[in-house]
Amino acid sequence: MVPQVSADPAGIIDYPRRLEPHQLYFAFGGGVGRFGTNFTVFHLNGVSVWIDVGSGFANHHTPGMEKNLPNRQLLLGFPPTAIFLTHGHEDHIGALPHLTEVIPVGTPIFASPFTTALLTVRLKERGIDPGRWDFRLIEQDSDVGIGPFRVSTFFMPHSIPQCFSVGLEVMLPHGKKRIYFSSDFKLRGSEVRHKVQNIKKFAPVDFLFIDSTGSLHEGETMAEREVDETLERLISRTPGRIFITTFASQVERIKNIARIASGLSRPIGFLGRSLKSQWEAAFISREVTAPLHLQKPPSYAAQNAIWLVAGCQADKNSSFSRLTHGTLAKMRLKPGDTLVYSASMIPGNEGKIYEALNLAADAGARVVGVSGDTRVHTSGHGKRGDIERLISYLKPRHILPVHGDPLHFHAFLEFIDQKKLPVTVTEGHRIYALGDAPVLVESVPDETCLVEAGEIHFDATLYRERIHLAEEGVCFVVLEPDRFAVSAISYVGVMSAQFLETMYPRLLNTAQQAALAAAQSAPRNREKKLRDFLSKLHEELIGKNPYIKIVTPQVMAAAAETPVASLDSARETSEVEP
Ligand SMILES: [Zn+2]
Ligand SMILES: [Zn+2]
Repeated sequence: MVPQVSADPAGIIDYPRRLEPHQLYFAFGGGVGRFGTNFTVFHLNGVSVWIDVGSGFANHHTPGMEKNLPNRQLLLGFPPTAIFLTHGHEDHIGALPHLTEVIPVGTPIFASPFTTALLTVRLKERGIDPGRWDFRLIEQDSDVGIGPFRVSTFFMPHSIPQCFSVGLEVMLPHGKKRIYFSSDFKLRGSEVRHKVQNIKKFAPVDFLFIDSTGSLHEGETMAEREVDETLERLISRTPGRIFITTFASQVERIKNIARIASGLSRPIGFLGRSLKSQWEAAFISREVTAPLHLQKPPSYAAQNAIWLVAGCQADKNSSFSRLTHGTLAKMRLKPGDTLVYSASMIPGNEGKIYEALNLAADAGARVVGVSGDTRVHTSGHGKRGDIERLISYLKPRHILPVHGDPLHFHAFLEFIDQKKLPVTVTEGHRIYALGDAPVLVESVPDETCLVEAGEIHFDATLYRERIHLAEEGVCFVVLEPDRFAVSAISYVGVMSAQFLETMYPRLLNTAQQAALAAAQSAPRNREKKLRDFLSKLHEELIGKNPYIKIVTPQVMAAAAETPVASLDSARETSEVEP
């Protein structure tokens, strides 16, 4: 069962606190100031238009988290009148399976056929009936009325099929306002529905919300066609097995590789479930002409096979990770093989990707594409040249960079001439009024929904504890409550067994003295006093500040009998105690 954000969190939704009639508002529940969880809402007179509702992934601050979702206060504070999903990347649609209690049955969801097919597959896999929402297919540039909003869509090239920008036109007491929300885009590509003249017709706009991901780089983002040409040359000159890892959503590239393989009469196979589900969505939405099961996979022994490998970010258990770590059934890398890294490394994943590529090199495979100058990958995000070109098409009065970290926003401010064109850097978890310029109305508590192990929770205490435990370990203080006396102490992950052996008498003795001293205080202060004292003691004696857990002898005895991994280690440590 997929955990759901509750629609009735017992009156703890306080925002928005006050909305004026005839005032246009917008808010970001994520995706601005930190990558992932893209969620934007535009609101006027009780009508809320959502653009994207994505998920984000764990980083070093949230070890063990499965994914996170946008701000709960904003998801529930602005119930959707209609939702526009610009494309099928997880950071734009990944929250939807967790929002069945938040998005009312029958809510219209506007999305391209590919995005709809992809989402339908995902919802069904999770046991959710896609029929609960009213999917409306956007097959070409079009427009639709949602209350006071006229919403237009404009197809844009990106790194997944059928991505569109959203234009909003709205009548206000002081006149009409036009907003263009680019979503993820580049300009050089082969999205057949992309019509520059339609974008130009929408100009001039009052506000341009623009993807700033590529703003660190000069020039224009390379077209997919150039990658296609490089791969064709590479594959035709490379004998032996070729393994190509890329993002599963790069349907166009995968299609090109399949075409190249067929032209060279080389068999092609797919390793990984995500490649298969993306291909299925591509087939349903007619991006590809054959379903995957019609293509006979090559035999594992075929020495001229081309294998597409899912999991280019080297996630644990992905095909790429298993192939390089040598744990994939019937498939081992060996001298004579070539591994093509046709992807980019998402910040934070570099360590595990390099580890995987090193293992492949160690196994004797030739590794191509890591340096980035082999042109076997192009980004889906426009660089400075693309950004400037889109600005020239739309002639905005005001610009708001979105889809980026502070690093990207600062780069954006550097290359846009703000004397000619005002730029406002906004933040997530804030509600803004949109008059002549964006004005902050109120800040909303950061209630990012954190999904892990079948539950959704809302504060990061768990991860702070987990990081503390990983770095400092835990100290069990066995305290007899009647006498307030320490009878033993035990450690997990704090110091080596040998060091503990030398330090134990001193640590135990000092802990016992500390308990004696704390016992003189009022009963309600005793534990805190003991804990504070022990923190200082550990810092001074061993240079560590372990998490201190006070337990009774009965609890400790029961824990030592419980066959749970973490408690087993507690027992192991206690065995070396004198
Ligand atoms: Zn995207
Ligand atoms: Zn994105």
